[in-house]
Amino acid sequence: TLLIVGSANADHVLAFSTLPKPGETLMSQQYRLELGGKGANQAVAAARLKTPKQQVEFICALGDDGNARLMRDAWQSDGVILSGCYDIAGQDTGTAMIFVSEKGENSIGVVAGANACLTPAHIVQQQRLFDLASYLLIQLETPIDTVATALRLAKQHDCTTILNPAPAAALPSELLSLVDIITPNETEAQALTGITVTDTHSAALAANKLHQYGIGTVITTLGSQGAYVSVQTDSERYNQLIAAFPVTAIDTVAAGDTFNGALMVALDEGLSMIEAVSFANQASAIAVTRHGAQRGIPYRAEL
Ligand code: ADP
Repeated sequence: TLLIVGSANADHVLAFSTLPKPGETLMSQQYRLELGGKGANQAVAAARLKTPKQQVEFICALGDDGNARLMRDAWQSDGVILSGCYDIAGQDTGTAMIFVSEKGENSIGVVAGANACLTPAHIVQQQRLFDLASYLLIQLETPIDTVATALRLAKQHDCTTILNPAPAAALPSELLSLVDIITPNETEAQALTGITVTDTHSAALAANKLHQYGIGTVITTLGSQGAYVSVQTDSERYNQLIAAFPVTAIDTVAAGDTFNGALMVALDEGLSMIEAVSFANQASAIAVTRHGAQRGIPYRAEL
């Protein structure tokens, strides 16, 4: 089983030619409801990209509202198994209000809602899933104690841990020591290490710092440049830039999430690290050519 733990958000998007100023009311040309949240995006990516033999389970917390029902239906039709998905009474499902302008500017407000209610106790209740799981994929949009509990439980069950350290934050070394594979983008690599990451040279310096916490594999995603893989384990030592697929990007929302879901699927299938990163680059290249978060994530047949 591929186990994802994380957040879910309903994104309410209003499009304007110019963003409204404080005190101003403007009519929008368009309203869209997008299903997002890093955890949910990664679960959907894994489900759309998996082989028929693989199973995807998603542990998350939703509110007791219509958005929760909408999400459950959408995820189930993608094949995500929701036995670890909680409905929290009296809470709203995580929500973002997003204003976007024609110039590409945006203005965003987020309510964590039920995402903040996913507790270590919820994780421990799902021991069974950790027992079945070969890989755990987790991010930082749920409480940090919950993330630490999930990583610890995974290690106790011989499950390989992948941390997508997003949104960017500095993290305690105890938490990093529970991670087998970490997948920061440039901003996140900088938040973790203090090193400004823009290219393979700086990515290598940051990766070396992360290896010192005991993380064997550091995959730094570099947007249109691709992904820089640095492996330092007892048995292997190498690094390599895997170039991105040349596409015209129109919306990079969920690029990283697609990358992470795809990486997990490919590693579990038995592909080598380099092959798996190449598969993840392919999947996220398709995602950036489409609008939306979960809407833009490709299906396996499209790769
Ligand atoms: P995030 O979305 O987390 O900021 P990145 O921007 O690094 O992460 O993108 C993640 C991955 O998506 C990259 O490693 C690459 O494979 C793919 N990607 C992102 N932008 C582009 C692009 N313009 N062209 C092709 N692939 C892209």
